[in-house]
Amino acid sequence: MLGPALALIHTGQAPTRSALTTALDVTRATAGAVTGELEALGLITVDSRPAGGGRGRPSHRLAIDPAGPVVVAAQIHADGLSVALSGLGGRLDTPRYLPLPDGTDPVRMLRAVAEAGAALARASARRCLGVALALPNPVTEPDGTALAALHFAWPSGTPVADLFDQEVRRADFGPRARTPLPSAVANDANLAALAEHRHGAGRGARHLLLVTSGHRGVGGALVIDGRLHTGSAGLALEVGHLTVDPLGRPCACGNRGCLNAETDPEALFTAAHRIPDPAGPLLGQARLLARSAAGDAAAAAAVEHVVDRLGLGLAGLVNILNPDRIVLSGLHLDLLAAAPERLAAVVADRCLWGRSGRVPIVPAQVDHAGLAGAAELAWEPYLHDPQAVLAGRS
Ligand SMILES: [Zn+2]
Repeated sequence: MLGPALALIHTGQAPTRSALTTALDVTRATAGAVTGELEALGLITVDSRPAGGGRGRPSHRLAIDPAGPVVVAAQIHADGLSVALSGLGGRLDTPRYLPLPDGTDPVRMLRAVAEAGAALARASARRCLGVALALPNPVTEPDGTALAALHFAWPSGTPVADLFDQEVRRADFGPRARTPLPSAVANDANLAALAEHRHGAGRGARHLLLVTSGHRGVGGALVIDGRLHTGSAGLALEVGHLTVDPLGRPCACGNRGCLNAETDPEALFTAAHRIPDPAGPLLGQARLLARSAAGDAAAAAAVEHVVDRLGLGLAGLVNILNPDRIVLSGLHLDLLAAAPERLAAVVADRCLWGRSGRVPIVPAQVDHAGLAGAAELAWEPYLHDPQAVLAGRS
């Protein structure tokens, strides 16, 4: 009861004790006991003062305790690292960005992440309960090896979960951190989908499909009834290698015309016959190019070219997965904004269920969704068992 109650408060579904009572289908006395226990654990606050202006019996307002514990969320991007502290309730602090360390050695990169996260934890007055890392490559389950880490030329099969855990144990997270500090790693698109489902555009969806293009390539994820569908070994939803143009652009996987190669920032620049500034981040420039389509014919044509291919890929996914919502993020969010009708029409034309079964395609809402999702991953053990916050207390 404690875990489900905390999850409902964490995701904003139970802002009051009466909402919690209804959602859990328990008596008021039980809900009172549960919220009292979560408050005693230092996770939530229960405010019984009347809200003012309301009629009838006021219900106690429930909120995440602003002085409660935090986790460290971290992400390795194709062009840098980011770390941030996050409380419950999807409250991510402003991220800190760092350049990639020289070289592509995974241990050096993971050490830089762990040390940057540890510095944030040491500087905080709040207790740190865990750390989780989002990676731009597939991560196997349950062993946590990185596959096809094309961005950094890591050896395929790098035991990234074990290596990261070693670096977390070496780093000094300060006297208030749980010891040993639990760590976890997962794919960034999967984590972004989790964050969107709990705190953003995916809220309430039962079969949520997320498709995203970051700096390079395309990722996807599926959340079914609130849980990530990751397949038998953590490798499901590699949507980037769906073929959307058999004669198209070469893909890093060795094939041609993959969604990965046809709908990422580089593809948009190529379609517009433009060259991005090599000194600036590619994703940001591509997003600006997509947004300029309203007043720029070449950009508009490029958007249509890429949107048609994105639509083909989404239609294939809709036919296989039958989602009730599609969330687009990264560059795909800007493509959706630039040509919403066209994208919906391409998807509908290719879907078995046609226009009658049109799936809502909506823009992502969560800022820094990879980091926000990493925070969700780090919170996971405590959402299952809030008493675990007492573990490792000296
Ligand atoms: Zn490919």
